[in-house]
Amino acid sequence: MKREYYEVLGVSRTATKDEIKKAYRKLALQFHPDKNPDNKDAEEHFKEVNEAYEVLSNDDKRRRYDQFGHAGVGSSAASGGGGQYGGGADLNDIFSAFNDMFSGGKTRGGGAPFGFEEVFGGGGGRRGRASSGIPGTDLKIRLKLTLEEIAKGVEKTLKIKKQVICEECKGSGSKSGATENCQTCHGTGEVRQASKTMFGQFVNIAACPTCGGEGRIIKDRCTSCYGEGIKLGEVTVKVNVPSGVEDGNYLTLRGQGNAGPRGGAAGDLLVVIEEIAHELFSRHGDDVVYSLAVSFPDLVLGTKVEVPTLDGAVKLTIPPSTQPETMLRIAGHGIGHLRGSSRGDQYVKVNVFVPKDLSHQDKELLKELKKSSGISPTAHNDKNSKGFFEKARDIFS
Ligand SMILES: [Zn+2]
Ligand SMILES: [Zn+2]
Repeated sequence: MKREYYEVLGVSRTATKDEIKKAYRKLALQFHPDKNPDNKDAEEHFKEVNEAYEVLSNDDKRRRYDQFGHAGVGSSAASGGGGQYGGGADLNDIFSAFNDMFSGGKTRGGGAPFGFEEVFGGGGGRRGRASSGIPGTDLKIRLKLTLEEIAKGVEKTLKIKKQVICEECKGSGSKSGATENCQTCHGTGEVRQASKTMFGQFVNIAACPTCGGEGRIIKDRCTSCYGEGIKLGEVTVKVNVPSGVEDGNYLTLRGQGNAGPRGGAAGDLLVVIEEIAHELFSRHGDDVVYSLAVSFPDLVLGTKVEVPTLDGAVKLTIPPSTQPETMLRIAGHGIGHLRGSSRGDQYVKVNVFVPKDLSHQDKELLKELKKSSGISPTAHNDKNSKGFFEKARDIFS
């Protein structure tokens, strides 16, 4: 799995541009091929460091990376592509890459008590404190969005309940902040148990049961959080949802999940998008379709109508001789593409309005009309056969 760029440069997620530059210089010097001739490892490191710096030194790329991880900057930057993506499928790529990163995160939480957090310095906004403790768990919440919100992107303020750092003990779990080395494991956090089997003797290494793998025991337990260093609390979180997201996609807010017990790094907050069905529009990728019933005379003679869009009412011309099920396009009134600033289109599917209740007078008028040979299909067989192709041209124009 690809390493986090921040981890590669050994800086926190909140590092300033200067800090990133300094870290890059140091590492670039250290792994420079001139200094490490014929050293494949150093070469790989050098490439990794350069890639990380290229992204983190650029405000725009860094923002993308923070929001979408490697997928937000990786493949598109490498292939030299940009902008021109087809909406839905592309987004799912991003989110499946999220999954990869995320499952990577899980192993660090479950497996080794050291490693990721130590190198990383406890990414979740807790600067300057060496991260001990147990990593916090990830939190998943659902966010319902209207099609209007998805079309243009939206900033949402959410109230969520989660584990927060205990204020009484500042997350240490101890009233005085004092800890002592665990007597069981002598501060290593691990216990070794030898077991004999028919294949020989095995040494089993497990997390120390006394200190839970932390290596240290709290003195003077905090009564407010019972020594956990965390408590249930309510926080408000701002989420910037980009346009073009789809039902089931999720955004990862790093370090905004549950706080970790006794100074452990916070987990991530996953915001799962739920699209509320729209009463007027159906969504097809980044396009929306609106069904419009038009009277028979208007279809034949043509007319101007007002149709609703995601941006309010828009005037639309129904050309003369419009066939039922014709798709008329209103450009740029669909869903904003996830990448790039352009939007999909709105299609208006035109149908004939067939009234159910007619006055006597209307019926007489229709009977009059029926007498005209010009409105019967038999008089237009040749023209009708063109209908399909005309429709197709309307859709793809
Ligand atoms: Zn221990
Ligand atoms: Zn406490």
